[in-house]
Amino acid sequence: MAQDGTGVPPRDSVTLENTSGAIVVINLPHEIVCTDERCCCSVGVHGVQDHDPKTGQRLVVGGRKRIAGSVTLLPKGQEGSVAYDLPPSVILAPDVRSRSADLKVTRLSPEETEKQAAARAAAAKKKADDAAAHAELAATAAEEQRAAEIAAVEAAAKHQAEEREAAKQRRLEAKAAPSGATAEEAAAKATAEAEAAAKADPKAELEDINLDEEDEAAPDRPTSPFDDTSTGRR
Ligand SMILES: [Zn+2]
Repeated sequence: MAQDGTGVPPRDSVTLENTSGAIVVINLPHEIVCTDERCCCSVGVHGVQDHDPKTGQRLVVGGRKRIAGSVTLLPKGQEGSVAYDLPPSVILAPDVRSRSADLKVTRLSPEETEKQAAARAAAAKKKADDAAAHAELAATAAEEQRAAEIAAVEAAAKHQAEEREAAKQRRLEAKAAPSGATAEEAAAKATAEAEAAAKADPKAELEDINLDEEDEAAPDRPTSPFDDTSTGRR
């Protein structure tokens, strides 16, 4: 900004608005734009090396240099496309004259300038308040999201624990169920099958019985030392 516009008596001003779709830069030459009351320049510090040929001494000498101000207007519709409270003489700047097709120039009376400044200050305050409110909302949202994530993790952990508990319960039940039950079931099934087979072929039942008897007789056979060692290895 060329000037801050604070603490100055009411004065005429000019508003420049970029009406083009490109950035417009307005240079404010001191000789043309600045007045005794308002200077848009800034002061820069520069260093110059001073070489004394007699002594060979080189010194860096500081100096102050006036740097002409400038205004950069962003494309139309963007924030920063308007420059407020410029000195009325800005309309004489070569860049303003040459870019007149891309600029809307509005001259304001001291009262209008003041009103505009107040409106801008209010808008800036509202923007800051909105930003603060938005930041607070964002913080709350972030907190809520974090809480939701924690809840989800906890729910998943609980579900996992429940699954583990259920699996454990199933294992315990399987263990508690007497193996005899399974054997009984198998025996019942085998009996049923045998009965069914007997109905179909009475001889088959007899053969089965005979086979069973042989199997049962087997352990009763006289044992040999080889048999003992073989059982001992098992
Ligand atoms: Zn100046």
